[in-house]
This record gives sequence, C-alpha cells and structure tokens, in this order.
Amino acid sequence: MPDINKIREDFPILKRKVNGYPLIYLDNAATSQTPKQVIDTIVGYYSNYNANIHRGVHTLSQEATEKYEEARIKIQKHFNATKPYEIIFTSGTTHGINLVATGFSDFLKEGDEIIVSALEHHSNIVPWQMLCERTGAVLKVIPMNEDGELIMSEYDKILSPNTKLVFCNHISNALGTINPVQEIIDKAHQFGAAVLIDGAQAAPHLKIDVQALDVDFYVASAHKMCGPTGVGMLYGKEEWLKKLPPYQGGGEMIAEVTFEKTTYADLPHKFEAGTPNICGGIAFGAAIDYLNSIDLDEIKAYEDELLAYATEKLSSILGLKIYGTSENKTSVISFNIEGIHPYDIGSIVDKLGIAVRTGHHCAQPIMDYYKIPGTVRASFAFYNTKEEIDNFVEAVNRAQLMLS
Ligand SMILES: *Cc1c(COP(=O)(O)O)cnc(C)c1O
Repeated sequence: MPDINKIREDFPILKRKVNGYPLIYLDNAATSQTPKQVIDTIVGYYSNYNANIHRGVHTLSQEATEKYEEARIKIQKHFNATKPYEIIFTSGTTHGINLVATGFSDFLKEGDEIIVSALEHHSNIVPWQMLCERTGAVLKVIPMNEDGELIMSEYDKILSPNTKLVFCNHISNALGTINPVQEIIDKAHQFGAAVLIDGAQAAPHLKIDVQALDVDFYVASAHKMCGPTGVGMLYGKEEWLKKLPPYQGGGEMIAEVTFEKTTYADLPHKFEAGTPNICGGIAFGAAIDYLNSIDLDEIKAYEDELLAYATEKLSSILGLKIYGTSENKTSVISFNIEGIHPYDIGSIVDKLGIAVRTGHHCAQPIMDYYKIPGTVRASFAFYNTKEEIDNFVEAVNRAQLMLS
C-alpha cells in the first residue's frame, strides 16, 4: 500500500485552495496532476539545455537530443515495445489516431470495413468517419449493454474478411469500463485486420505490454499519466510503421530533398516532422519514471479501493443513478441525480473546492444510448483519499438539497 500522504507532498497543486476550500481534484480522467519531479524536469530543461535536437553539433543540442532519445527508450520499455523506433512522439492520443487513420487511406477501398466500439471518445469516431469518406469503406459498431460493456457476441457477427481495421479504447473515459482488448485483438487478427487500441485511460492505471497484446498500434497521452500536455505516444509494429506513409511533410522527416523527389527518413523520424515538443517528450519520460517509482499494480489496487468506497457512499443518495456498472472498471464514476441537471451539481461542488466533470465527456453516443444529456463524472487518481470522497459525497448531498 503506497503512502498516500507522502505521495500528496509530490503534487504542489494539491495544497491550493479553490473558493476558500482545499482543492479536491476528481477530474483525473480529463487530465492528471503533475508531480514536482516532472515540473523540475521541465524547469531543468529550460534552465540548462534548451536547444533544438538532432541537428546541432553544439553541446546543448547534443544534451537535449540525448535526453529526448532517452525518454523514447523509457516509453519503449514501459510499454514493452521491441524497438525504440516503434515509439513515435505525438502531441497526444488524438494526433496518434489521426496519423494512423490518415495513413490507412492508401490501404482501403470501397467495401472494406472498419469496426469501432460504441464506447468511443469523439477523437476515435471522427477520424474513422473521415477515412470512410475518403475511401468508401464502411464503419461498423460493436454495440454496448446497459452496464456499459461491449456486447462481444455482436462483434463476432460483424467481423468478416472485409474487416481491415478494428479500433477500440482500452478503457472508456466516460464510464470507466475496461474493454476485453485481448479478445478484440485476437479475433481481428483471425481475419487479418489491424487493430489500434486507444490507451489514453488505460496507461495511467494498468501495465501495458504491447508485445503480449500483439496489438498493431497503441496510443496514449502524457497529460493523463502525470506528464505535461501536448505530448503523447504512438506505438506501431515496425512492419506497419514502415508501410504507413508519412503524416506531415517538413524538416526532420526527410532523408534527401530535391525539387523532383524527396526520400523519407527512417523510423521514427519519418513521422516526426518539424521541431517536436522536446521538453514535453523529456518530461513524459520523467512522468513514466514517477509512475514506476510507485508501481502501477499498487496504484491500481488503491484506486480500486477508492472506487468501491465512493460507489457505496454515492449509492446511498436517493435518486442517484450510476452509469457504467461493469465488474471490470477503473476509478471513474459517472452519475446523475433524478430531476437535477449534471451541470448544476458540478457548479455547486465547485463552489466547495471540488473539481468534477459534467457533460457528455466527448462520448455522445454513450449518452444517446442512456437517453441522457450528460453525467457528473468523478474520476480518482492514486493521490486522492477517502476523506476527499467523504467531502465530495457530502457536497453532492448539499447540492441535492439546494436543487430539489
Ligand atoms: C482523453 C482521451 C482521448 C483524447 O486524448 P487527447 O490527449 O485529448 O488527445 C482519447 N481517448 C480517450 C479514451 C481519452 O480518454
């Protein structure tokens, strides 16, 4: 069991007050908070070795390049990729998905099919719709049930030799459901389809082993795993990354340029046009070091405890309904109280210093399924405590009294 009070000391923001109350930050599924180890890395970069990478002969440039490439190796090891160049730095999950979706334009034709799940974030639906428009491929959806789980027997029915690509999030950001990605990957491979898994919500909570999963592509964002915003990673199997065309043209991604023809650089540079988020990449590496210093298994066990505790406490509120009731879920609770708009609850608890998210969580199809405009979503991280949950539940009770 990690020492939570000691861990909280690492997060300067947890000492601040909001509207006169100590901050209770329960919006971790939107972005996580940043430990001082990562903040120090960012300050250290700009104070000591800020320089452009890969091109310079001077010392600062070499130092920055070394740290940036070290970070890539940290990410590679963390996700257990075979080679460092199978890790592409992106600006985040959305960028990684678009890179793959755009690249697949060359591989699809009319009548091909792409399967996505009903639990997707908008960033995972729109790029596929655009890809279908470009190529004439057809989008198919794995439906969900009342508990917020994918109906896997329906997946079996829509898989076919026409399936070229399957896309699913590892964990739903709106409901917290952990999807059976191994089964999804294995079955897709039986039909020769490639699989891209969105790990934006899974990477902060689970140990991910891309080789064990045998997944073709895996994406994540640093800012949901204690790192900074504006940086993320795309893992791709070497054979796929070699096949995919570059996403953007620019500096760094070329081998040779003449006006007649340009040849592209080797991996990973083929996909990293222009000056990247150098500091962000290095800080991403520091965030991974930080998570590993606590141990993801211990984090998961503690967060499960918080989830069970909060679920029980919230369930005692009359008229409160939780959406997403799978046995297999992470520390996200989406709920509504009968007769009250989620936005009103969010505003009142904010007055008491508590940050939760309200709305459709970029997952409108899920809201449509439940026929609701949105939910209040509380999402917990390992630096949250049971006392914070007690205060939150009391605040929700107060909101209910005021609003009904
Ligand atoms: C947050 C999130 C995204 C988008 O991540 P960005 O960092 O905004 O690109 C995509 N999918 C899921 C499941 C998410 O939680």
